[in-house]
Amino acid sequence: MEKILKLKNVNEDVYNYIIKVGLLHLALHAFDMYVKSDFAINNITESFNVWVDKFRVFHALSMMEGIRRKMMKMMIKRLQDARSWYIVIPHLVQMKLSDRQDEARFMTILCASDKEFEVKEDVKFYIVNLETQSYDCGLWELSGLPCKHVMVVITTTRKNPSNFVHPYLTKDAYLRTYNHVIYLISDQEQ
Ligand SMILES: [Zn+2]
Repeated sequence: MEKILKLKNVNEDVYNYIIKVGLLHLALHAFDMYVKSDFAINNITESFNVWVDKFRVFHALSMMEGIRRKMMKMMIKRLQDARSWYIVIPHLVQMKLSDRQDEARFMTILCASDKEFEVKEDVKFYIVNLETQSYDCGLWELSGLPCKHVMVVITTTRKNPSNFVHPYLTKDAYLRTYNHVIYLISDQEQ
């Protein structure tokens, strides 16, 4: 919020626009923790247009039919691929965990007990409690993935980072997402 207020001095029009749209949609600190996402970019419309591709020029029914088939193919492929994974955490989530492990290398840690730790990053200190899963920065709760401050504690205490990933981001959740069936529809002209 402090940075949003600073923006007012830089450009008041932009500040007013952000306040009008709502911080809930634009600022990480105001995101709903339930969604487990720290993504502040919204280009879903653009992405959907690219994904729909050639069907955009079709009339409505043919376009819907094309999208239905494309979604059906995508969902069954993702389901089949995920069934063959031997890991609990999907590859993309695993890559993010690795990035946070790399970032954690530059921090120092002070243990108060088996569960409580103080993590130092530059001149700032963060308190992490692994048992209650409480910590100062808030990114873990927001994204569902341990942030670099939690990761340094996990690595130092030789725990498995996968055990600290939110269930939404596991293979099991991925399988349940793509387990739904888009049923075939007979040709209406037959
Ligand atoms: Zn953090």
